[in-house]
Amino acid sequence: MTQANLDINTCIVGGGPAGMLLGLLLARAGVDVLVLEKHADFLRDFRGDIVHSSTLMVLREMGLLDTFLSLPHQKLTELGGDIGKVHVKLADFSHLSVPFIVVMPQWDFLNFLAAEAKKYPNFHLRMSTEAITLIQENNKIVGVVAKHMEQTISIRSQLVVGADGRHSTVRAQADLPVIDFGAPIDVFWFRLSRDPSATEDTLGRIVPGKMMVTINRGDYWQCGYIIPKGGADVLQEQGLAAFREAIAAVAPSLGDKLNVLQDWEQIKLLTVKVDFLMHWFRPGLLCIGDAAHAMSPVGGVGINLAIQDAVATANLLAIPLRTRKLTTADLAKVQHRREWPVRMIQKLQIFLHKRVLSNVLSQTDTMEMQVPLPVRWLNRYRFLRRIPARLIAMGFRPEHVTIHNNHGVSSES
Ligand SMILES: Cc1cc2nc3c(=O)[nH]c(=O)nc-3n(C[C@H](O)[C@H](O)[C@H](O)COP(=O)(O)OP(=O)(O)OC[C@H]3O[C@@H](n4cnc5c(N)ncnc54)[C@H](O)[C@@H]3O)c2cc1C
Repeated sequence: MTQANLDINTCIVGGGPAGMLLGLLLARAGVDVLVLEKHADFLRDFRGDIVHSSTLMVLREMGLLDTFLSLPHQKLTELGGDIGKVHVKLADFSHLSVPFIVVMPQWDFLNFLAAEAKKYPNFHLRMSTEAITLIQENNKIVGVVAKHMEQTISIRSQLVVGADGRHSTVRAQADLPVIDFGAPIDVFWFRLSRDPSATEDTLGRIVPGKMMVTINRGDYWQCGYIIPKGGADVLQEQGLAAFREAIAAVAPSLGDKLNVLQDWEQIKLLTVKVDFLMHWFRPGLLCIGDAAHAMSPVGGVGINLAIQDAVATANLLAIPLRTRKLTTADLAKVQHRREWPVRMIQKLQIFLHKRVLSNVLSQTDTMEMQVPLPVRWLNRYRFLRRIPARLIAMGFRPEHVTIHNNHGVSSES
């Protein structure tokens, strides 16, 4: 094992949406920033793919939207679902300032952010580098010890940002108290082929006792089959043939594509968590994104909240960081700014877990599926479909990029 030492203004642990965008925004604002990512690349499947209008707006404010949209993606201007045999329209994005949402594999989005960030000489990204412990002095976090292959790196920084996701090492090491709200569901994720010329675009499918999300990714469907919490073992014991039958029951139009599922290795389990840190910060340390508040996949909002946290953090901290005048009160401002929008979305998710998902999953397949009254209204009145569209695509109190580009890097249009 060799040993190296590094000094950097800000060290971000985790190269997910929160960490990469924060790295880009801080570098753009003139802060020396290092992002540590434990994986060798961003190529991990079955993570959030939905880039909402709030994130697209942030990219537009940074002058990056056109470049981003030149990458392969699907655009959705509305969302619909099948409840039993009835197709319903649920959300209409056409009135929003960016009037659509985008489906793009998360690795493309992260590679895009990395490529933009690398244009700044003060941005540094270390892949295959895992934060192991925090460095503490006089009850203050002053850095992090990371491992890169056979090398231990001791990194000292003014601020450590934990953007290392739902199983955050940083938040565990900092001993930050967590409120766990629980979740009654888990999700099996898998892919099924799709005819790219097909017009079918259904996102949600519900029949009594079963529920599934199907995200159009061009030549394949990214599928999420929702199961009761802890129910994975039971389903696996019943075998793949029974699993394929269950999928065919909730999504009959995908029945002819199911033979491709021949091994449980093709089907990944997402253990759904909803939690929230009581304190997102300690002197010298801040957690954002899933590390501060793990989100349920309901609404596909995880990426976007992580992005919003990054924008608020950069807006509030770039100047104190650059001038080396960061105080713990500055860190408290980030939590204060982001706590309300995150809690509101989590409350909605918990409500939907209890009132919709648990209800559907507890029904038996002999029951008649009724379309609930509010959903019938949404389907009938287009203007009502703006309400879920705004909540999903923009969230509460969307953030705007107010911190300036201190470099004037020319790729930003
Ligand atoms: C299987 C799955 C499916 C999902 N589906 C959806 C969906 O459909 N829609 C949706 O909106 N959200 C979904 N999510 C959630 C969504 O991906 C997250 O909410 C979002 O990515 C959070 O962003 P983040 O940057 O906070 O954390 P993450 O995206 O979790 O990024 C954290 C990063 O930190 C790295 N890391 C972790 N520990 C360390 C360490 N010690 N040192 C260095 N690096 C470290 C990880 O490798 C990772 O790259 C899903 C999540 C999973 C796991």
